[in-house]
Amino acid sequence: MNIILFGPPGAGKGTQAKYLVNKLNAFQISTGDLLREEINKETNIGKKIINDMNDGKFVNDEIVNQLIENLISDPIKKNKLIFDGYPRSLSQAQNLNKLLNSSNQKIDFVLFLNVDKETVIKRIEKRKIIENRSDDETETIIKRYETYMKTTQPVLNFYSKNPNFKEIDGTLQIDEITRKIETFINV
Ligand code: AMP
Repeated sequence: MNIILFGPPGAGKGTQAKYLVNKLNAFQISTGDLLREEINKETNIGKKIINDMNDGKFVNDEIVNQLIENLISDPIKKNKLIFDGYPRSLSQAQNLNKLLNSSNQKIDFVLFLNVDKETVIKRIEKRKIIENRSDDETETIIKRYETYMKTTQPVLNFYSKNPNFKEIDGTLQIDEITRKIETFINV
């Protein structure tokens, strides 16, 4: 089963992704984690993206697409992909379809965790204390939320017409969200 978790920063995508990974014996593909790893390892990609990441801007589609390509074609991960934070633009969504097609896969479910700006700010300020992420400053959070809302509308339009798309209230408690997900994907 391949699943996309979609939603603004702080919507709880990572939390639900980790739960699904355990439950379905699947693999989390978090582009945010992959990008942070490039920065920590001080790779060429890391050097290119550090400013955009710290400013709360989206990283260039080409770089992100390149990072996930091998993961999608990995036979061990086939049909066990939980996308967390990808795709975030229409071009990424189209690229994902192309990559999945070429390895005989498809997206089974798209789960949209919807949360308002105020909840996002509150949650990320809490996360900042726990994880100390450099892009979790309040001003950056607001920018990330706004960038997200603006750029992702075409992605939502792309997926929301399909019956495998479900919008879930991301302000609910973690286990309530999990239950809604399980009911929808029937596990
Ligand atoms: P996240 O951990 O998913 O909240 O992502 C943190 C940051 O990584 C975002 O604010 C973007 O700068 C960058 N990022 C993560 N995923 C993507 C993506 N799919 N496309 C572009 N930028 C991304």
